[in-house]
Amino acid sequence: MPDTLSLLKTRLAEVADLNYAAAVLEWDQETYMPPGAAESRAQQVATLRRLGHERFTADEVGGWLDRLNPSPEEEQALVRVTQRDYARATLLPSAWVSAMAEAKGRALEAWKTAREANDFAHFAPHLQRIVDLNREKAERLRPLLADERGNTYAPTEADALYDALLDEYEPGAHTTEVAAVFADLQRHLVPLVEAIAAQPQLDDRLVHRAYDEDAQWAFGMQVAEALGYDLRHGRQDRSAHPFTTSFGIRDVRITTRLDPQFFNPAFFGTIHEVGHALYEQGIDPALDRTPLADGTSLGMHESQSRLWENLVGRSRAFWMHWFPQAQRHFPGALAGAKAEAFYRAVNRVEPSLIRVEADELTYHLHVLLRFEIERALIAETLAVADVPEAWNAKMEAYLGCTPASDADGCLQDIHWALGALGYFPTYTLGTLMSTQLFEAAERDLGDLNEAFAEGTYRPLLDWLRTHVHRWGRMRSANEILRDVMGGGLDAAPWLAYAKAKFGALYGLGLEAEGSKPQAHSF
Ligand code: ZN
Repeated sequence: MPDTLSLLKTRLAEVADLNYAAAVLEWDQETYMPPGAAESRAQQVATLRRLGHERFTADEVGGWLDRLNPSPEEEQALVRVTQRDYARATLLPSAWVSAMAEAKGRALEAWKTAREANDFAHFAPHLQRIVDLNREKAERLRPLLADERGNTYAPTEADALYDALLDEYEPGAHTTEVAAVFADLQRHLVPLVEAIAAQPQLDDRLVHRAYDEDAQWAFGMQVAEALGYDLRHGRQDRSAHPFTTSFGIRDVRITTRLDPQFFNPAFFGTIHEVGHALYEQGIDPALDRTPLADGTSLGMHESQSRLWENLVGRSRAFWMHWFPQAQRHFPGALAGAKAEAFYRAVNRVEPSLIRVEADELTYHLHVLLRFEIERALIAETLAVADVPEAWNAKMEAYLGCTPASDADGCLQDIHWALGALGYFPTYTLGTLMSTQLFEAAERDLGDLNEAFAEGTYRPLLDWLRTHVHRWGRMRSANEILRDVMGGGLDAAPWLAYAKAKFGALYGLGLEAEGSKPQAHSF
């Protein structure tokens, strides 16, 4: 008779296989599947996902988890993380699950129509339904958070609900602390963006030229491999929306899209996804086919993509090394150009309406306003009907521009139509983590830009493997930050980086900061 831990591990491996098989079908759907197969593919994926869910939420799994009390660190983590997933998967009744599935299906269709017709009123009742279902979900999950977080956990009524939503994407995060970090960020970032807007703009015509698509592909792959992306266990394909997906630790794939007239989307998109893929490829192989074989939070995952995309790929040292090779790939577009001019072109800052097209700085103001609106919707201090007005007012206050239409305003993102509230903050949390990790890596390794100028990334990758990647979900984001920084989430390193880099690029002559933003932990 196998012991309880073996029974659990066998079952988790089976569930992982079902989910990875579904992920292969989803990857194929986004890359190679002929469009006419959409309906049958949806059925195939739904069947695999349902089987995985049933095998995971079965009563005997709960029984095993109750009986287990392992001592090795790895097995403790496995039981702890599986208990967490099990509790969340079994607390929501099937009536809620099917209501949400139906609401999402309808909301997605309504969102597409509303966006095309610039008609928020058409989407509003669906958004209301999504908000209501999320409030119900939060009410059902909040006792779990109270159990997990102990006696000192005492959020306000409204934040207790948002906490329960945020926790799905960023386990352990506290709404009030995220809000405080974001307030620090806003206080420093809005004046910085205003100061930049008052300066002469950087010339970015160099990146808006004809870039041969095959050469874009070849250059992107060359850089991806140089950064450490293992093509024996990965590959890149084209898709409309770039993403990273993993079918276990040994098969981690990325996608990109190409714009023949604009260098940035494919190149920085590729590096971004490579950052996600390096994380997944770096997880300890012993954790494969368990719930631990995944990024520990969306924020930590995004910290890896942003670190490689921005702190490495948009650095001056990076382009000092790669620009001559870029010139060989794109002799037409880059003949006679200088590396410094290219570095400036890829770092242009300009307030704009669309989040996914935003630069490294203004991006976070887009995230902040979404977080504030979501929090107010869940607290019921903002009515769904008033979302467009609130959106536009915040755009004007933070970015100095107002969308002419809701299609370019509150209807631009798919997240709410997919039922996801509490997701947006992780984009900015990840960026803040990326600079904290980078600062810690430089403390241990010395100036990394010297290595980048020589095209060397191995020391940084090995450091990330040791402190972040190999743990998978064994360590929380907060534990990782504590381990390397001795503290929790902190906006100060990113703000210092942003002021130094963009202050120099735009000739702002910034003085050293008098008031250091406070550190927060979660
Ligand atoms: Zn990402």
